[in-house]
Amino acid sequence: MTLLVLAGTSDARQLLEGLQGVDVVASLAGVTRSPVDLPAITRKGGFGGVKGFRDYLLSHGIKGVVDATHPFAAKMTQTAASICAELNIPHIIVQRLEWVADVGDQWYYVDTVAQTANYIPKGATVFLGTGRQTLHEFSCLEGRKLLARVIDPPKAPVLAGFAGGFLIGTPPFSIEQEVALFKEKNIEWLVVKNAGGAKSRSKLDAARILSLPVVMINRPKLPDAKVVGTVDAALDWVRAQGW
Ligand code: NAP
Repeated sequence: MTLLVLAGTSDARQLLEGLQGVDVVASLAGVTRSPVDLPAITRKGGFGGVKGFRDYLLSHGIKGVVDATHPFAAKMTQTAASICAELNIPHIIVQRLEWVADVGDQWYYVDTVAQTANYIPKGATVFLGTGRQTLHEFSCLEGRKLLARVIDPPKAPVLAGFAGGFLIGTPPFSIEQEVALFKEKNIEWLVVKNAGGAKSRSKLDAARILSLPVVMINRPKLPDAKVVGTVDAALDWVRAQGW
C-alpha cells in the first residue's frame, strides 16, 4: 500500500519527514540540477503526461497521492487530480496559504507574466524572483534591466536581449540579506509569484522596507480536489487513510 508524494517544495520535504516508516515514494520532476536528498525513496523525472501518470499509479500499486508540488506547478497538479479521480485513488493537495499584502506593501496583481509589462516602466531595474524555468516568458519586459534569482544558472540563453544577470542563490534568505541585495543592485521593481510561505516572504518584507513596488503574479486555479493549507493537515489526512 504505497503512498506517492509529489514533491519539489519544502512542504513536501517536511511532509516526508513526518512520514518516516510509512510505505511512501517521493517524486521529483528532476529540474533542479543537484537537489538535496529527500528523506524517502525518490523517483525522478516526469511521468510522461496523463497516460504516463495513470500507468505509473497502476503499475506501482499506488493507493494514495499527496500533491505537495509548488502552487505554480499547475500541469502536474491538474494531471494528478484528474487521474486520481478517474482511478478513485485517494488524493489531496497541500498548498500553503497565499501571501496577503500588509500595510505599506505596494503590490500590483496580475494573472499572466505578459501583464507585468503594464506596470513596470522601461528602463527600470527589476528583480525577478520567479525561477529559472519561466524566464523565457519575460520577453514582454524588453527595455527593462532584469536580474533573475535562480538556484541553478541556465546553461543556454533563456531570453533574447536579456540585459540583466543572474543572482545565484538557494533560499531561504533573511530580510537583511534581501534589503542589502536590493540596495546593492539598485532594484526598483520586484516580480514575484504568489507562492506563499513564511520563509520566502523575506523579499516582500524587504520590498516594503525599501518602499519598492511588487508585481504579484496570482496563482493558477486549483482543480476540483481536496486541498489543505498545512503539512500537519496533510499528515492527518494520510493517517486517516490508514497509513
Ligand atoms: P508543471 O508545469 O506542473 O509540470 C511540468 C511537468 O513536469 C509535468 O507535466 C510533469 O511531467 C513534470 N513534473 C512536475 N512535477 C513533478 C513531480 N513532482 N514529479 C514528477 N514529475 C513532475 O511543474 P513545474 O512548474 O515545471 O515544476 C516542476 C517541479 O518544480 C515541481 O515539482 C514543482 O513543485 C517544483 N517547483 C516549481 C516552481 C514553479 O514556480 N513552478 C517553483 C519551485 C519548485 P510529465 O507530464 O512528463 O509527467
